[in-house]
Amino acid sequence: MRRRLRNAGRPGVAGLALSAADCALWDLKARRHDLPLARLLGTARRAVPVYGSGGFTTYDDAQQHRQLAGWVHEQGIPRVKIKIGGSCGTEVGRDLARMTAARRTIGDDAELFVDANGAYQRKQAIRVAHAAADLDVRWYEEPVSSDDLPGLGLVRDHVAPDVTAGEYGYDLVYFHRMAPYVDCLQIDVTRCGGISEFLRVAAVADAAGLQVSAHCAPHQHVPVAAATPNLRHLEWFHDHVRIESMLFDGAEPADGGDTRVPLDRPGNGLEFRADRAQRYRVS
Ligand SMILES: [Mg+2]
Repeated sequence: MRRRLRNAGRPGVAGLALSAADCALWDLKARRHDLPLARLLGTARRAVPVYGSGGFTTYDDAQQHRQLAGWVHEQGIPRVKIKIGGSCGTEVGRDLARMTAARRTIGDDAELFVDANGAYQRKQAIRVAHAAADLDVRWYEEPVSSDDLPGLGLVRDHVAPDVTAGEYGYDLVYFHRMAPYVDCLQIDVTRCGGISEFLRVAAVADAAGLQVSAHCAPHQHVPVAAATPNLRHLEWFHDHVRIESMLFDGAEPADGGDTRVPLDRPGNGLEFRADRAQRYRVS
């Protein structure tokens, strides 16, 4: 499949299709051998650490508070991420106010992550991190565009939080080029080329002395995350958790900050609920 995409180009819908096929074939192989997929891949851990991810810039203060408090104080997830960089980075005062509110909600012990989705300019991104220094932000995702590799490196060298990127990566070379400029590489198994490529990217990161973090689609990631020794955590993206839990049996919760690896059933441990999906049919 990879070779056949040479002329069409790997990024975009072709890469998503390749990733889906690769994930499905790994799942099929595990089911045919009556093995949990994580076992087939080589289990490195029985539970995968997660971080709660949401905190959209469109939320009001009460909505952000409810979401973060739910993860930290009700589910016991000790890491959460909010979005910053609203309106293309023109609302820095509001970004800082929302970060301050988030820290107030989660208390001193939980880790606070932020994701600017590439909204800031280089020096602006550094100034934002310095202005938030007393909030102990640990994770600074895409402070500048992930296409600006020297910019990511500049920010990384001047701020305390780990600078991270990689969610748009469609092939191994993308991550190889990015690795020298970040503190942690994010990989999306639904985009990077599937489980086969995820494992190769994790090896590239390891060779550069980096950990990796799995981006979104949490239950699709669990088996490969369980098989990745240098995994830091998995993004527990609120909308994907909601959809996966609705459309699949076997979508495990993440109470306590880890989600259990399904080692007691074959394949990825998920069963599609066609009955629940029926109402969303479009053809
Ligand atoms: Mg992101």
